[in-house]
Amino acid sequence: MSLVVQKYGGTSVGDAARIRSVAKRVAERRVSGDSVVVIVSAMGHTTDELIRLSTEVSPHHHPREMDMLLTAGERISMALLAMAIRDEGVEAMSLTGSQAGILTDTSHGQAKIREIKPMRVVEGLESGKVVIVAGFQGVSPDTKEITTLGRGGSDATAVAMAAALEADVCEIYTDVDGVFTADPRVVPEARKLDEVSYDEMLELAAAGARVLMPRSVEFGKRFNVPIHVRSSFHDRPGTWVKESAMEQAVVSGVAHDTSEAKLTVRGIPDTPGVAAAIFTALADAGISVDIIVQNVSSGGLADISFTVPRDVLGQAVPITREVAAGKKAASVEVDEAIGRVSIVGSGMRSYPGVAAKMFSVLAGAGINILMISTSSIRTSCVIAEARVEEAARLLHAAFQPPTAPGEL
Ligand code: ADP
Ligand code: ASP
Ligand code: MG
Repeated sequence: MSLVVQKYGGTSVGDAARIRSVAKRVAERRVSGDSVVVIVSAMGHTTDELIRLSTEVSPHHHPREMDMLLTAGERISMALLAMAIRDEGVEAMSLTGSQAGILTDTSHGQAKIREIKPMRVVEGLESGKVVIVAGFQGVSPDTKEITTLGRGGSDATAVAMAAALEADVCEIYTDVDGVFTADPRVVPEARKLDEVSYDEMLELAAAGARVLMPRSVEFGKRFNVPIHVRSSFHDRPGTWVKESAMEQAVVSGVAHDTSEAKLTVRGIPDTPGVAAAIFTALADAGISVDIIVQNVSSGGLADISFTVPRDVLGQAVPITREVAAGKKAASVEVDEAIGRVSIVGSGMRSYPGVAAKMFSVLAGAGINILMISTSSIRTSCVIAEARVEEAARLLHAAFQPPTAPGEL
């Protein structure tokens, strides 16, 4: 008998029939003797719909009320799933994030889980119930306010809850068969990986493979929670995310992302403290910056380019303009039509030439590289948004991940 935490994403609980089929799967698992905690996402596109509705009602930013609004999505699915599981003859109870003891920091919209005090979850399990917890939400003990964890946050709820309960496994049920070598909706030849290491999955997720939220992988790695990403449509095994995958592929996968925008501060005096001023102001506003490139030209002036999530551009642009003006920069340019394509693989660190091959593939298709960033197991290029999907397909065809060392 084991303790399993299962998470069902939006498509998997998208309508009444899907909820009933999830309920059957959960009830069967419970009847077979396992203790089961279920984390649910909001149904289908509920979260997007609620965001759209809020922009129709008000053009302004209301962080607290936004979290009150969005957490309603997961409350709907948790209650409906509890009803459907009870109809299968298995006791079930739903809990909000706050009732389940998910304690976060105070930041609305992108709160971080600080601690989980799962007393009510444990009580429910001890009385034989399936416990259903609303994903993506928590409560700040400091402000007593309800918070959300950022898009895709139910993955983080699931893995963090699995860690807190010392569960045997965290199963992430989604609308694809597992983690693929690229987004299977964009690269039809993408192959399912049987396993992938936490480090590679972290890089893939951060590079845009949204099948797992990056923070969920961080929890998995930190608390050594085995994560099984699998389909909610059938019972075949998916992908295991765990400490070290057996083979060290040179390239395990290709990821792409079109959620960022590029800002360039032009002609800023090349003196100490300029970068510190820009990025301190952005950090103080809670804006995370991804790639940063600085070029110094001969006249003692520098250009600094960096990327930020598009959905915070409205805050990032005025902050950057203000600092740039204070430092006597010539101008600030904004480019929203960019995207990022990345290759990831643990074996990459021992094989020179991988990045060079990536650049050659892009050059061969006439795709201009705007920015480059690397880690020891990832190389990313920022390119025009319009070419991103094509670039992902070309790189996948060129590297054929998972790439064995001899195949490069
Ligand atoms: P859920 O609602 O279940 O959380 P998401 O839409 O957040 O599902 O994540 C699953 C989606 O992630 C898939 O439908 C797929 O299009 C996308 N995806 C992107 N990259 C990958 C990848 N490398 N492997 C699998 N899926 C990926
Ligand atoms: N419903 C939230 C979202 O759409 C959280 C999640 O699905 O993980 O981002
Ligand atoms: Mg998701």
